[in-house]
Amino acid sequence: MRSERDDHGRGDRIVGSIVDMAGVSRAKVLPIARSTSFVESGAGASPSWSVFCIDDHLAFTPAFSVVGDLRLRIVSDDVRDLGNGTYWAPACLTEQDGTPSLACTRGALRRVTERLASSGLTARVGSEIEFTLFGGVAVEEWAAYGLNAVLAQEEFLGRLLAAAATAELPIEQVHAEAGLNQFEVSLAPADAVRAADDAVLARALISRVARTLGLRASFSPMPVAGGSGNGAHQHVSFAEGGRPLLSGGPGPHGLTEAGGAAVAGILRALPDVTAVLAGSALSHLRLRPGMWSGAYRCWGLENREAAVRLCADTAGNPHGANLEIKAVDPSANPYLGTAAILGAAHDGILGAHPLPDEVSVNPAELTGADAVDVLPTLPSDVLGALRSSSLAQDLFGPAIVEALLAVKEYEHSRYRDEPVDEVAQRFRFAWTP
Ligand code: GLU
Ligand code: MG
Repeated sequence: MRSERDDHGRGDRIVGSIVDMAGVSRAKVLPIARSTSFVESGAGASPSWSVFCIDDHLAFTPAFSVVGDLRLRIVSDDVRDLGNGTYWAPACLTEQDGTPSLACTRGALRRVTERLASSGLTARVGSEIEFTLFGGVAVEEWAAYGLNAVLAQEEFLGRLLAAAATAELPIEQVHAEAGLNQFEVSLAPADAVRAADDAVLARALISRVARTLGLRASFSPMPVAGGSGNGAHQHVSFAEGGRPLLSGGPGPHGLTEAGGAAVAGILRALPDVTAVLAGSALSHLRLRPGMWSGAYRCWGLENREAAVRLCADTAGNPHGANLEIKAVDPSANPYLGTAAILGAAHDGILGAHPLPDEVSVNPAELTGADAVDVLPTLPSDVLGALRSSSLAQDLFGPAIVEALLAVKEYEHSRYRDEPVDEVAQRFRFAWTP
């Protein structure tokens, strides 16, 4: 932990942030000399932080109102140097006496990893961060995965990689995506909580570097109506006693029985947690067939339209076999999104759910009895599934589900029937830290 001796007279400061139910990072800043206090006492945060909506409306509920105080406490062993005297650490929400708050989404993810551990399981998570740059000198030449695209923004990319090295953010690769000025950054896999922290940090760094160049980064699921969506795909893998569950087994493509049950558990739970993974009032514009957003509720080896894409263990896959969950978009709280996926997989493993048949073609081609369901996108279906989900109650606890429902119900009732181009424009930078 840095102390006042390190201030250098330049106003060094430490930022602690959490992510709310709308997927927005909210922060407090303390002078670096007060870091110890930020760890041990925390900074005040009203319980209403949990019911901020995307437009800063407060969707009060019985448990989240104007009364009470929580503390935002930074995690002392995860302080990152963002440069220019700014340090960042993920924060937890606690009660005033220091006990964890039931509204803490980071805590919810930690509890899910502890449950996995109690079954002898570990999980690794790698995040893909898609974003779209706006402003600056207009870029007109752009090809998906284009060399022209990465050269057009080489100053941005260079600064981002330098900032990532300083902040110990493990960027593995960057490429241009299909949309104009759309990029993807892939992060190395890590333990689940660290991976979610990294996803939050990645957005902060991308946004910060963009600002230094007069650009703005959008993390909206649909920055321009009718354009390319931004995803926040998560790659997950599991091991038991050091042995991977997704390779080396007797099942299809080397899945073990437990690995197959994990796939089944995720597929089973996806409708229940779509509100968590892709629950904003813009998410339905992206979560559709043909968008490579995993809208079809099925799995398949390297199937990019499947909700669960199995990436098998090959020489081209140095981190080993994993499952890519594509439905997740950047409006999702990364802690809750990962908790949902890992918790669903664990549920599948505990229940020894059978692996459904693989879909090895574009699911859009399957009709009649073979047709594959798509994930829900109607507000009544998405919110109804969360409301009646015993899995969500079990994974997140009633307080988080209450806050999630209040926020998502408001956002959908307020914005789903508005013209999509206006809503997309209004919230283009709503998830930009
Ligand atoms: N942009 C797509 C999405 O919204 C993903 C494209 C890809 O497969 O990387 O999820
Ligand atoms: Mg991508």
